[in-house]
Amino acid sequence: MTDSATLTEETPSATTAVLDHWVDGAPWSGASARTAPVFNPALGRVQREVRLASTADVDHAVASANAAWAQWRDASIAKRQTVMFAFRELLNERKQELAEILTAEHGKVISDALGEIARGMEVVEFACGLGHLTKGAYSENVSTGVDVYTLKQPLGVVGIISPFNFPAMVPLWFFSIALAAGNAVILKPSEKDPSAANWMAALLKEAGLPDGVLNVVHGDKESVDALLEHPDVRAISFVGSTPIAKYVYETATSHGKRVQALGGAKNHMLVLPDADLDLAADAAVNAGFGSAGERCMAISVVLAVDSVAEAFVAKVSERMGTLRTGDGTRGCDMGPLITEVHRDKVASYIDVAASDGASVVVDGRDVEVDGDPNGFWLGPTLIDRVPTSSTVYTDEIFGPVLSVVRVDGYEEGLGIINAGRYGNGTAIFTNDGGAARRFQREVQVGMVGINVPIPVPVAYHSFGGWKASLFGDAKAYGPHGFDFFTQEKAVTSRWLDPSHGGLNLGFPQHT
Ligand code: NAD
Repeated sequence: MTDSATLTEETPSATTAVLDHWVDGAPWSGASARTAPVFNPALGRVQREVRLASTADVDHAVASANAAWAQWRDASIAKRQTVMFAFRELLNERKQELAEILTAEHGKVISDALGEIARGMEVVEFACGLGHLTKGAYSENVSTGVDVYTLKQPLGVVGIISPFNFPAMVPLWFFSIALAAGNAVILKPSEKDPSAANWMAALLKEAGLPDGVLNVVHGDKESVDALLEHPDVRAISFVGSTPIAKYVYETATSHGKRVQALGGAKNHMLVLPDADLDLAADAAVNAGFGSAGERCMAISVVLAVDSVAEAFVAKVSERMGTLRTGDGTRGCDMGPLITEVHRDKVASYIDVAASDGASVVVDGRDVEVDGDPNGFWLGPTLIDRVPTSSTVYTDEIFGPVLSVVRVDGYEEGLGIINAGRYGNGTAIFTNDGGAARRFQREVQVGMVGINVPIPVPVAYHSFGGWKASLFGDAKAYGPHGFDFFTQEKAVTSRWLDPSHGGLNLGFPQHT
Protein backbone atom coordinates (compact mmCIF):
# COMPACT_ATOMS: atom_id res chain seq x y z
CA MET A 1 0.00 0.00 0.00
CA THR A 2 1.29 3.50 -0.76
CA ASP A 3 0.29 6.54 1.26
CA SER A 4 -1.04 9.57 -0.54
CA ALA A 5 -2.98 12.68 0.47
CA THR A 6 -4.74 12.87 3.83
CA LEU A 7 -8.52 12.75 3.84
CA THR A 8 -10.18 15.91 5.09
CA GLU A 9 -13.78 17.09 5.31
CA GLU A 10 -13.05 19.75 2.65
CA THR A 11 -11.64 17.43 0.04
CA PRO A 12 -14.23 14.72 -0.43
CA SER A 13 -12.37 13.12 -3.32
CA ALA A 14 -9.05 12.93 -1.48
CA THR A 15 -7.71 9.46 -0.75
CA THR A 16 -5.72 8.07 2.12
CA ALA A 17 -4.16 5.20 0.20
CA VAL A 18 -4.07 3.17 -2.95
CA LEU A 19 -4.94 -0.48 -2.56
CA ASP A 20 -2.51 -2.68 -4.48
CA HIS A 21 -3.04 -6.10 -5.99
CA TRP A 22 -1.74 -9.10 -4.01
CA VAL A 23 0.60 -11.23 -6.06
CA ASP A 24 3.25 -13.74 -5.01
CA GLY A 25 2.40 -13.30 -1.36
CA ALA A 26 2.82 -9.51 -1.21
CA PRO A 27 1.17 -6.24 -2.30
CA TRP A 28 2.00 -5.52 -5.94
CA SER A 29 1.28 -2.30 -7.82
CA GLY A 30 1.31 -3.69 -11.36
CA ALA A 31 1.99 -1.56 -14.41
CA SER A 32 -1.44 -0.05 -15.06
CA ALA A 33 -1.89 3.55 -13.94
CA ARG A 34 -5.67 3.28 -13.78
CA THR A 35 -7.43 3.42 -10.40
CA ALA A 36 -11.02 3.67 -9.10
CA PRO A 37 -12.36 5.36 -5.96
CA VAL A 38 -13.50 3.27 -3.00
CA PHE A 39 -16.18 4.99 -0.92
CA ASN A 40 -17.34 4.67 2.62
CA PRO A 41 -21.05 4.66 1.76
CA ALA A 42 -22.08 5.71 5.27
CA LEU A 43 -20.00 8.88 4.90
CA GLY A 44 -20.51 9.40 1.18
CA ARG A 45 -16.79 10.01 0.80
CA VAL A 46 -13.90 8.39 -1.00
CA GLN A 47 -11.61 6.70 1.49
CA ARG A 48 -9.02 5.22 -0.84
CA GLU A 49 -8.31 4.29 -4.45
CA VAL A 50 -7.97 0.79 -5.81
CA ARG A 51 -5.77 -0.21 -8.73
CA LEU A 52 -7.40 -1.41 -11.93
CA ALA A 53 -5.30 -4.08 -13.58
CA SER A 54 -4.38 -4.15 -17.26
CA THR A 55 -4.28 -7.34 -19.33
CA ALA A 56 -0.51 -7.42 -18.81
CA ASP A 57 -1.01 -7.25 -15.03
CA VAL A 58 -3.40 -10.20 -15.20
CA ASP A 59 -0.87 -12.13 -17.32
CA HIS A 60 1.76 -11.52 -14.63
CA ALA A 61 -0.54 -12.76 -11.85
CA VAL A 62 -1.55 -15.85 -13.82
CA ALA A 63 2.12 -16.67 -14.47
CA SER A 64 2.80 -16.37 -10.73
CA ALA A 65 -0.17 -18.62 -9.94
CA ASN A 66 0.88 -21.16 -12.52
CA ALA A 67 4.41 -21.37 -11.11
CA ALA A 68 3.08 -21.73 -7.55
CA TRP A 69 0.59 -24.37 -8.64
CA ALA A 70 3.40 -26.67 -9.72
CA GLN A 71 4.27 -27.00 -6.00
CA TRP A 72 0.79 -26.74 -4.49
CA ARG A 73 -0.64 -29.55 -6.61
CA ASP A 74 1.97 -31.83 -5.02
CA ALA A 75 1.30 -30.65 -1.45
CA SER A 76 -0.04 -33.62 0.51
CA ILE A 77 -3.64 -33.77 1.69
CA ALA A 78 -2.31 -33.41 5.24
CA LYS A 79 -0.44 -30.23 4.34
CA ARG A 80 -3.45 -28.66 2.60
CA GLN A 81 -5.65 -29.59 5.56
CA THR A 82 -3.20 -27.97 7.97
CA VAL A 83 -3.36 -24.71 6.02
CA MET A 84 -7.16 -24.75 5.87
CA PHE A 85 -7.52 -25.48 9.59
CA ALA A 86 -5.04 -22.71 10.44
CA PHE A 87 -6.88 -20.28 8.17
CA ARG A 88 -10.19 -21.13 9.86
CA GLU A 89 -8.71 -20.49 13.30
CA LEU A 90 -7.16 -17.16 12.30
CA LEU A 91 -10.36 -16.05 10.59
CA ASN A 92 -12.39 -16.86 13.68
CA GLU A 93 -9.96 -15.04 15.97
CA ARG A 94 -9.82 -11.91 13.81
CA LYS A 95 -13.31 -11.74 12.33
CA GLN A 96 -14.07 -8.42 14.01
CA GLU A 97 -11.26 -6.77 12.00
CA LEU A 98 -12.69 -8.14 8.78
CA ALA A 99 -16.23 -7.12 9.78
CA GLU A 100 -15.04 -3.54 10.25
CA ILE A 101 -13.51 -3.54 6.76
CA LEU A 102 -16.79 -4.82 5.31
CA THR A 103 -18.80 -2.15 7.10
CA ALA A 104 -16.42 0.63 6.05
CA GLU A 105 -16.56 -0.25 2.34
CA HIS A 106 -19.90 -1.99 1.84
CA GLY A 107 -21.94 -0.21 4.52
CA LYS A 108 -23.69 -3.25 6.01
CA VAL A 109 -24.05 -3.09 9.79
CA ILE A 110 -21.35 -4.81 11.88
CA SER A 111 -23.65 -7.62 13.09
CA ASP A 112 -24.59 -8.41 9.48
CA ALA A 113 -20.92 -8.30 8.44
CA LEU A 114 -20.15 -10.85 11.17
CA GLY A 115 -23.02 -12.98 9.86
CA GLU A 116 -21.53 -12.85 6.36
CA ILE A 117 -18.16 -13.98 7.73
CA ALA A 118 -19.76 -16.80 9.73
CA ARG A 119 -21.50 -18.16 6.61
CA GLY A 120 -18.24 -17.91 4.64
CA MET A 121 -16.30 -19.60 7.44
CA GLU A 122 -18.72 -22.54 7.24
CA VAL A 123 -17.32 -23.23 3.78
CA VAL A 124 -13.75 -23.13 5.10
CA GLU A 125 -14.79 -25.70 7.71
CA PHE A 126 -16.36 -27.86 5.02
CA ALA A 127 -13.21 -27.56 2.88
CA CYS A 128 -11.13 -28.84 5.83
CA GLY A 129 -12.75 -32.22 5.02
CA LEU A 130 -10.88 -32.33 1.72
CA GLY A 131 -9.39 -35.73 2.49
CA HIS A 132 -12.82 -37.26 2.25
CA LEU A 133 -14.12 -34.97 -0.47
CA THR A 134 -11.32 -35.60 -2.96
CA LYS A 135 -11.46 -39.38 -2.63
CA GLY A 136 -11.95 -41.38 -5.79
CA ALA A 137 -13.59 -44.79 -6.19
CA TYR A 138 -12.02 -48.23 -6.67
CA SER A 139 -13.36 -51.34 -8.39
CA GLU A 140 -11.24 -54.42 -7.96
CA ASN A 141 -11.02 -57.16 -10.57
CA VAL A 142 -13.33 -55.61 -13.20
CA SER A 143 -11.76 -58.15 -15.51
CA THR A 144 -9.46 -60.92 -14.40
CA GLY A 145 -6.46 -59.22 -12.78
CA VAL A 146 -7.66 -55.74 -13.82
CA ASP A 147 -8.62 -52.93 -11.42
CA VAL A 148 -10.28 -49.57 -12.20
CA TYR A 149 -10.07 -46.53 -9.97
CA THR A 150 -10.69 -42.80 -10.21
CA LEU A 151 -8.55 -39.87 -9.11
CA LYS A 152 -9.86 -36.37 -8.46
CA GLN A 153 -7.14 -33.99 -9.54
CA PRO A 154 -6.97 -30.19 -9.39
CA LEU A 155 -7.57 -28.16 -12.55
CA GLY A 156 -4.68 -25.70 -12.29
CA VAL A 157 -5.19 -21.93 -12.15
CA VAL A 158 -8.80 -20.90 -11.61
CA GLY A 159 -10.38 -17.42 -11.68
CA ILE A 160 -12.95 -16.14 -9.17
CA ILE A 161 -14.87 -12.94 -9.96
CA SER A 162 -17.03 -11.68 -7.12
CA PRO A 163 -19.75 -9.04 -6.56
CA PHE A 164 -19.86 -6.07 -4.20
CA ASN A 165 -22.59 -7.36 -1.91
CA PHE A 166 -20.62 -10.15 -0.18
CA PRO A 167 -16.97 -9.07 -0.33
CA ALA A 168 -15.89 -11.83 2.09
CA MET A 169 -18.46 -14.61 1.87
CA VAL A 170 -18.58 -15.10 -1.90
CA PRO A 171 -14.76 -15.29 -2.29
CA LEU A 172 -14.73 -17.73 0.68
CA TRP A 173 -17.35 -19.91 -1.04
CA PHE A 174 -15.01 -20.49 -3.93
CA PHE A 175 -11.37 -20.07 -2.93
CA SER A 176 -11.67 -22.28 0.16
CA ILE A 177 -12.67 -25.24 -1.97
CA ALA A 178 -10.46 -24.38 -4.94
CA LEU A 179 -7.38 -24.21 -2.70
CA ALA A 180 -8.30 -27.29 -0.66
CA ALA A 181 -8.67 -29.24 -3.90
CA GLY A 182 -5.14 -28.23 -4.92
CA ASN A 183 -5.73 -25.38 -7.39
CA ALA A 184 -4.09 -21.97 -7.59
CA VAL A 185 -6.44 -18.97 -7.60
CA ILE A 186 -6.75 -15.52 -9.10
CA LEU A 187 -9.43 -13.61 -7.19
CA LYS A 188 -10.88 -10.52 -8.89
CA PRO A 189 -13.13 -8.93 -6.25
CA SER A 190 -15.58 -6.09 -6.80
CA GLU A 191 -13.75 -2.80 -7.23
CA LYS A 192 -16.41 -1.16 -5.02
CA ASP A 193 -15.26 -2.89 -1.80
CA PRO A 194 -11.92 -4.55 -2.58
CA SER A 195 -10.02 -4.46 0.73
CA ALA A 196 -11.48 -7.63 2.28
CA ALA A 197 -9.83 -9.70 -0.47
CA ASN A 198 -6.33 -8.45 0.37
CA TRP A 199 -6.97 -8.95 4.08
CA MET A 200 -8.00 -12.58 3.51
CA ALA A 201 -5.03 -13.17 1.18
CA ALA A 202 -2.64 -11.93 3.87
CA LEU A 203 -4.37 -14.17 6.41
CA LEU A 204 -3.96 -17.21 4.16
CA LYS A 205 -0.26 -16.46 3.95
CA GLU A 206 -0.13 -16.34 7.75
CA ALA A 207 -1.94 -19.69 7.78
CA GLY A 208 0.86 -21.19 5.71
CA LEU A 209 -0.40 -20.95 2.13
CA PRO A 210 2.66 -20.73 -0.14
CA ASP A 211 3.16 -17.44 -1.99
CA GLY A 212 1.50 -17.23 -5.40
CA VAL A 213 -1.14 -19.89 -4.71
CA LEU A 214 -3.79 -17.21 -4.11
CA ASN A 215 -3.42 -13.89 -5.90
CA VAL A 216 -5.78 -10.93 -5.82
CA VAL A 217 -6.08 -8.82 -8.94
CA HIS A 218 -8.23 -5.71 -8.70
CA GLY A 219 -9.94 -4.34 -11.73
CA ASP A 220 -12.90 -3.83 -13.97
CA LYS A 221 -13.95 -5.23 -17.34
CA GLU A 222 -10.39 -5.26 -18.71
CA SER A 223 -9.14 -7.61 -16.00
CA VAL A 224 -12.26 -9.79 -16.18
CA ASP A 225 -11.90 -10.18 -19.94
CA ALA A 226 -8.21 -11.03 -19.52
CA LEU A 227 -9.13 -13.85 -17.13
CA LEU A 228 -11.95 -15.12 -19.35
CA GLU A 229 -9.60 -15.39 -22.31
CA HIS A 230 -6.33 -16.45 -20.68
CA PRO A 231 -5.24 -19.90 -21.92
CA ASP A 232 -3.77 -20.86 -18.52
CA VAL A 233 -6.97 -20.13 -16.58
CA ARG A 234 -8.86 -23.40 -16.50
CA ALA A 235 -12.12 -22.43 -14.78
CA ILE A 236 -14.14 -19.37 -13.85
CA SER A 237 -16.44 -18.97 -10.85
CA PHE A 238 -18.49 -15.80 -11.18
CA VAL A 239 -21.16 -14.16 -9.06
CA GLY A 240 -22.89 -10.93 -10.07
CA SER A 241 -25.75 -9.54 -12.12
CA THR A 242 -27.47 -11.65 -14.75
CA PRO A 243 -26.30 -9.76 -17.88
CA ILE A 244 -22.66 -10.01 -16.77
CA ALA A 245 -23.07 -13.63 -15.61
CA LYS A 246 -24.38 -14.55 -19.06
CA TYR A 247 -21.55 -12.66 -20.76
CA VAL A 248 -18.96 -14.34 -18.53
CA TYR A 249 -20.47 -17.78 -19.15
CA GLU A 250 -20.57 -17.35 -22.93
CA THR A 251 -17.12 -15.78 -23.23
CA ALA A 252 -15.28 -18.15 -20.92
CA THR A 253 -16.90 -21.31 -22.28
CA SER A 254 -16.04 -20.20 -25.80
CA HIS A 255 -12.43 -20.09 -24.56
CA GLY A 256 -12.70 -23.70 -23.41
CA LYS A 257 -13.14 -23.07 -19.69
CA ARG A 258 -15.30 -24.74 -17.11
CA VAL A 259 -17.70 -22.04 -15.85
CA GLN A 260 -20.20 -21.51 -13.04
CA ALA A 261 -21.80 -18.06 -13.28
CA LEU A 262 -24.35 -17.11 -10.65
CA GLY A 263 -26.61 -14.21 -11.60
CA GLY A 264 -29.31 -11.95 -10.22
CA ALA A 265 -32.57 -12.72 -8.47
CA LYS A 266 -36.07 -11.61 -7.60
CA ASN A 267 -37.17 -13.75 -4.68
CA HIS A 268 -40.81 -14.26 -3.72
CA MET A 269 -42.34 -15.21 -0.42
CA LEU A 270 -45.81 -16.74 -0.62
CA VAL A 271 -47.97 -16.15 2.46
CA LEU A 272 -50.97 -18.49 2.70
CA PRO A 273 -54.00 -17.66 4.85
CA ASP A 274 -53.12 -20.29 7.48
CA ALA A 275 -49.61 -18.90 8.04
CA ASP A 276 -48.56 -17.48 11.38
CA LEU A 277 -48.79 -13.84 10.27
CA ASP A 278 -46.49 -12.52 12.99
CA LEU A 279 -43.78 -14.99 12.02
CA ALA A 280 -44.30 -14.16 8.34
CA ALA A 281 -44.17 -10.40 8.96
CA ASP A 282 -40.94 -10.73 10.99
CA ALA A 283 -39.45 -12.85 8.21
CA ALA A 284 -40.47 -10.42 5.45
CA VAL A 285 -38.91 -7.48 7.28
CA ASN A 286 -35.68 -9.35 8.08
CA ALA A 287 -35.30 -10.78 4.61
CA GLY A 288 -36.46 -7.65 2.79
CA PHE A 289 -34.34 -5.06 4.55
CA GLY A 290 -31.30 -6.91 5.94
CA SER A 291 -28.16 -5.58 4.26
CA ALA A 292 -30.39 -2.84 2.77
CA GLY A 293 -31.92 -5.42 0.45
CA GLU A 294 -28.58 -5.89 -1.32
CA ARG A 295 -28.61 -9.67 -1.03
CA CYS A 296 -29.22 -12.09 -3.87
CA MET A 297 -31.41 -14.08 -1.46
CA ALA A 298 -33.33 -11.04 -0.18
CA ILE A 299 -37.10 -11.30 -0.33
CA SER A 300 -38.22 -8.55 -2.67
CA VAL A 301 -41.80 -9.63 -3.36
CA VAL A 302 -44.41 -10.94 -0.95
CA LEU A 303 -47.32 -12.74 -2.57
CA ALA A 304 -50.04 -12.31 0.03
CA VAL A 305 -53.33 -14.13 -0.31
CA ASP A 306 -56.20 -11.59 -0.38
CA SER A 307 -57.90 -12.72 2.82
CA VAL A 308 -54.81 -11.94 4.95
CA ALA A 309 -53.07 -9.28 2.82
CA GLU A 310 -54.47 -6.27 4.68
CA ALA A 311 -53.48 -7.63 8.10
CA PHE A 312 -50.08 -8.74 6.80
CA VAL A 313 -49.25 -5.31 5.31
CA ALA A 314 -50.26 -3.65 8.58
CA LYS A 315 -47.97 -5.96 10.58
CA VAL A 316 -45.04 -5.37 8.24
CA SER A 317 -45.41 -1.60 8.24
CA GLU A 318 -45.74 -1.55 12.04
CA ARG A 319 -42.44 -3.45 12.35
CA MET A 320 -40.74 -1.17 9.83
CA GLY A 321 -41.45 1.75 12.15
CA THR A 322 -39.11 0.22 14.71
CA LEU A 323 -36.10 -0.10 12.38
CA ARG A 324 -33.17 2.29 12.71
CA THR A 325 -31.35 3.19 9.49
CA GLY A 326 -27.84 4.59 9.81
CA ASP A 327 -24.11 4.10 10.14
CA GLY A 328 -23.27 0.41 10.48
CA THR A 329 -20.85 1.12 13.31
CA ARG A 330 -23.59 2.64 15.52
CA GLY A 331 -25.71 -0.41 16.24
CA CYS A 332 -28.34 0.45 13.60
CA ASP A 333 -30.51 -2.18 11.89
CA MET A 334 -29.81 -1.15 8.32
CA GLY A 335 -26.95 0.67 6.61
CA PRO A 336 -26.61 2.72 3.41
CA LEU A 337 -26.64 1.56 -0.20
CA ILE A 338 -23.38 0.92 -2.01
CA THR A 339 -23.18 4.06 -4.20
CA GLU A 340 -25.05 7.29 -4.73
CA VAL A 341 -26.00 6.24 -8.28
CA HIS A 342 -27.42 2.95 -7.02
CA ARG A 343 -29.32 4.68 -4.21
CA ASP A 344 -30.88 7.13 -6.69
CA LYS A 345 -31.83 4.30 -9.03
CA VAL A 346 -33.46 2.29 -6.23
CA ALA A 347 -35.32 5.40 -4.99
CA SER A 348 -36.60 6.11 -8.51
CA TYR A 349 -38.71 2.93 -8.34
CA ILE A 350 -40.84 4.55 -5.63
CA ASP A 351 -42.10 7.11 -8.17
CA VAL A 352 -42.55 4.38 -10.77
CA ALA A 353 -44.68 2.44 -8.27
CA ALA A 354 -46.97 5.40 -7.69
CA SER A 355 -47.40 6.05 -11.40
CA ASP A 356 -48.05 2.35 -12.10
CA GLY A 357 -50.99 2.38 -9.67
CA ALA A 358 -49.34 0.72 -6.66
CA SER A 359 -49.69 2.24 -3.20
CA VAL A 360 -46.59 3.38 -1.36
CA VAL A 361 -47.24 2.39 2.26
CA VAL A 362 -43.82 3.40 3.66
CA ASP A 363 -41.58 5.75 1.65
CA GLY A 364 -37.91 5.25 2.53
CA ARG A 365 -36.99 8.69 1.20
CA ASP A 366 -38.54 10.17 4.34
CA VAL A 367 -36.30 8.19 6.67
CA GLU A 368 -34.55 9.83 9.61
CA VAL A 369 -30.97 8.64 9.55
CA ASP A 370 -28.50 8.04 12.37
CA GLY A 371 -25.45 8.88 10.29
CA ASP A 372 -23.61 11.38 8.14
CA PRO A 373 -26.01 13.38 5.92
CA ASN A 374 -23.78 12.64 2.91
CA GLY A 375 -24.21 8.85 3.24
CA PHE A 376 -26.05 6.96 0.50
CA TRP A 377 -29.25 6.51 2.48
CA LEU A 378 -32.63 5.14 1.62
CA GLY A 379 -34.91 3.84 4.34
CA PRO A 380 -37.02 0.68 4.24
CA THR A 381 -39.82 1.06 1.71
CA LEU A 382 -43.07 -0.91 1.43
CA ILE A 383 -45.20 -0.87 -1.70
CA ASP A 384 -48.57 -2.63 -1.78
CA ARG A 385 -50.72 -3.75 -4.71
CA VAL A 386 -47.79 -3.81 -7.14
CA PRO A 387 -48.97 -4.84 -10.64
CA THR A 388 -46.83 -7.64 -12.08
CA SER A 389 -46.53 -5.59 -15.27
CA SER A 390 -44.67 -2.80 -13.41
CA THR A 391 -40.88 -2.61 -13.54
CA VAL A 392 -41.06 -2.42 -9.75
CA TYR A 393 -42.09 -6.06 -9.99
CA THR A 394 -40.07 -7.21 -13.01
CA ASP A 395 -36.68 -5.56 -12.26
CA GLU A 396 -34.15 -6.74 -9.70
CA ILE A 397 -34.15 -3.51 -7.65
CA PHE A 398 -31.46 -4.67 -5.19
CA GLY A 399 -32.36 -2.24 -2.43
CA PRO A 400 -34.65 -1.88 0.61
CA VAL A 401 -37.89 -1.93 -1.37
CA LEU A 402 -40.38 -4.65 -0.49
CA SER A 403 -43.29 -5.14 -2.89
CA VAL A 404 -46.56 -6.83 -2.04
CA VAL A 405 -48.56 -8.48 -4.80
CA ARG A 406 -51.99 -9.67 -3.75
CA VAL A 407 -53.07 -13.08 -5.04
CA ASP A 408 -56.29 -15.08 -4.75
CA GLY A 409 -54.61 -18.27 -3.53
CA TYR A 410 -51.80 -20.84 -3.83
CA GLU A 411 -52.26 -21.48 -7.57
CA GLU A 412 -52.03 -17.85 -8.59
CA GLY A 413 -49.01 -17.32 -6.32
CA LEU A 414 -47.19 -20.36 -7.68
CA GLY A 415 -47.99 -19.32 -11.25
CA ILE A 416 -46.46 -15.89 -10.71
CA ILE A 417 -43.26 -17.34 -9.21
CA ASN A 418 -42.88 -19.90 -11.98
CA ALA A 419 -43.44 -17.30 -14.71
CA GLY A 420 -40.51 -15.27 -13.35
CA ARG A 421 -37.24 -14.86 -15.17
CA TYR A 422 -35.10 -15.70 -12.15
CA GLY A 423 -35.12 -18.79 -9.94
CA ASN A 424 -32.70 -18.17 -7.10
CA GLY A 425 -34.60 -18.43 -3.82
CA THR A 426 -38.21 -18.51 -2.64
CA ALA A 427 -40.18 -19.19 0.52
CA ILE A 428 -43.63 -20.30 1.54
CA PHE A 429 -45.20 -19.41 4.87
CA THR A 430 -47.96 -21.79 5.90
CA ASN A 431 -48.98 -24.24 8.60
CA ASP A 432 -50.28 -26.70 6.01
CA GLY A 433 -47.71 -29.44 5.46
CA GLY A 434 -49.47 -30.61 2.32
CA ALA A 435 -49.31 -27.15 0.73
CA ALA A 436 -45.64 -26.82 1.68
CA ARG A 437 -44.86 -30.20 0.16
CA ARG A 438 -46.67 -29.31 -3.06
CA PHE A 439 -44.75 -26.05 -3.18
CA GLN A 440 -41.31 -27.64 -2.77
CA ARG A 441 -42.21 -30.01 -5.59
CA GLU A 442 -43.84 -27.60 -8.01
CA VAL A 443 -41.88 -24.39 -7.67
CA GLN A 444 -39.30 -23.67 -10.40
CA VAL A 445 -36.63 -22.24 -8.11
CA GLY A 446 -33.26 -23.58 -6.96
CA MET A 447 -33.46 -22.89 -3.21
CA VAL A 448 -36.73 -23.16 -1.27
CA GLY A 449 -37.61 -22.13 2.27
CA ILE A 450 -40.55 -23.52 4.22
CA ASN A 451 -41.25 -20.96 6.93
CA VAL A 452 -37.61 -19.90 6.36
CA PRO A 453 -37.24 -16.67 4.39
CA ILE A 454 -33.57 -16.85 3.28
CA PRO A 455 -32.90 -20.52 2.51
CA VAL A 456 -29.14 -20.33 1.92
CA PRO A 457 -28.07 -23.98 2.19
CA VAL A 458 -25.43 -24.97 4.75
CA ALA A 459 -21.91 -25.52 3.42
CA TYR A 460 -22.28 -29.26 2.90
CA HIS A 461 -25.15 -28.75 0.48
CA SER A 462 -24.60 -26.61 -2.62
CA PHE A 463 -25.85 -23.07 -3.32
CA GLY A 464 -27.36 -22.07 -6.63
CA GLY A 465 -30.49 -20.97 -8.43
CA TRP A 466 -32.26 -21.96 -11.62
CA LYS A 467 -33.05 -20.11 -14.84
CA ALA A 468 -31.39 -16.66 -15.18
CA SER A 469 -29.89 -17.00 -11.68
CA LEU A 470 -27.25 -19.57 -12.71
CA PHE A 471 -25.43 -20.20 -15.97
CA GLY A 472 -23.59 -23.52 -16.01
CA ASP A 473 -24.46 -26.73 -14.25
CA ALA A 474 -22.34 -26.54 -11.10
CA LYS A 475 -23.62 -24.73 -8.04
CA ALA A 476 -21.36 -23.05 -5.47
CA TYR A 477 -19.67 -24.95 -2.60
CA GLY A 478 -20.83 -28.26 -1.08
CA PRO A 479 -20.37 -31.38 -3.21
CA HIS A 480 -20.77 -29.36 -6.43
CA GLY A 481 -17.84 -27.19 -5.32
CA PHE A 482 -15.41 -30.10 -5.10
CA ASP A 483 -16.69 -31.52 -8.39
CA PHE A 484 -16.23 -28.14 -10.06
CA PHE A 485 -12.66 -27.64 -8.83
CA THR A 486 -11.43 -31.15 -9.63
CA GLN A 487 -11.24 -33.21 -12.77
CA GLU A 488 -11.73 -36.92 -12.59
CA LYS A 489 -9.31 -39.36 -14.14
CA ALA A 490 -10.18 -43.06 -14.51
CA VAL A 491 -7.26 -45.49 -14.35
CA THR A 492 -7.48 -49.08 -15.62
CA SER A 493 -4.59 -51.06 -14.23
CA ARG A 494 -3.15 -54.52 -14.76
CA TRP A 495 0.10 -55.74 -13.29
CA LEU A 496 1.46 -58.01 -15.93
CA ASP A 497 2.05 -61.70 -15.58
CA PRO A 498 3.07 -63.95 -18.48
CA SER A 499 -0.53 -65.19 -19.09
CA HIS A 500 -1.49 -61.72 -20.38
CA GLY A 501 0.65 -61.83 -23.49
CA GLY A 502 -0.57 -62.17 -27.10
CA LEU A 503 -1.97 -59.89 -29.84
CA ASN A 504 -5.70 -58.99 -30.14
CA LEU A 505 -6.89 -55.91 -32.08
CA GLY A 506 -10.53 -56.26 -30.93
CA PHE A 507 -12.16 -53.74 -28.55
CA PRO A 508 -11.22 -54.62 -24.94
CA GLN A 509 -13.74 -56.96 -23.28
CA HIS A 510 -13.88 -58.40 -19.82
CA THR A 511 -13.01 -61.93 -19.03
P1 NAD B 1 -21.92 -6.89 -11.26
O1 NAD B 1 -22.41 -7.87 -12.25
O2 NAD B 1 -22.00 -5.44 -11.57
O3 NAD B 1 -20.37 -7.18 -10.91
C1 NAD B 1 -19.92 -8.45 -10.55
C2 NAD B 1 -18.45 -8.58 -10.96
O4 NAD B 1 -18.35 -8.44 -12.37
C3 NAD B 1 -17.55 -7.52 -10.34
O5 NAD B 1 -16.33 -8.10 -9.97
C4 NAD B 1 -17.37 -6.51 -11.48
O6 NAD B 1 -16.11 -5.86 -11.44
C5 NAD B 1 -17.47 -7.38 -12.72
N1 NAD B 1 -18.05 -6.66 -13.86
C6 NAD B 1 -18.96 -5.65 -13.83
N2 NAD B 1 -19.26 -5.25 -15.08
C7 NAD B 1 -18.54 -6.01 -15.93
C8 NAD B 1 -18.42 -6.08 -17.35
N3 NAD B 1 -19.13 -5.27 -18.15
N4 NAD B 1 -17.58 -7.00 -17.88
C9 NAD B 1 -16.89 -7.82 -17.09
N5 NAD B 1 -16.95 -7.81 -15.74
C10 NAD B 1 -17.77 -6.92 -15.15
O7 NAD B 1 -22.69 -7.22 -9.88
P2 NAD B 1 -22.63 -6.41 -8.52
O8 NAD B 1 -23.42 -5.15 -8.70
O9 NAD B 1 -21.25 -6.33 -8.00
O10 NAD B 1 -23.42 -7.41 -7.56
C11 NAD B 1 -24.82 -7.42 -7.44
C12 NAD B 1 -25.44 -8.49 -8.32
O11 NAD B 1 -24.90 -9.78 -7.97
C13 NAD B 1 -26.93 -8.63 -8.13
O12 NAD B 1 -27.52 -8.83 -9.39
C14 NAD B 1 -27.07 -9.87 -7.25
O13 NAD B 1 -28.31 -10.55 -7.36
C15 NAD B 1 -25.96 -10.70 -7.77
N6 NAD B 1 -25.58 -11.71 -6.80
C16 NAD B 1 -25.95 -12.99 -7.05
C17 NAD B 1 -25.63 -13.99 -6.14
C18 NAD B 1 -26.03 -15.40 -6.39
O14 NAD B 1 -25.60 -16.25 -5.65
N7 NAD B 1 -26.81 -15.71 -7.41
C19 NAD B 1 -24.92 -13.66 -4.98
C20 NAD B 1 -24.54 -12.35 -4.76
C21 NAD B 1 -24.88 -11.38 -5.69
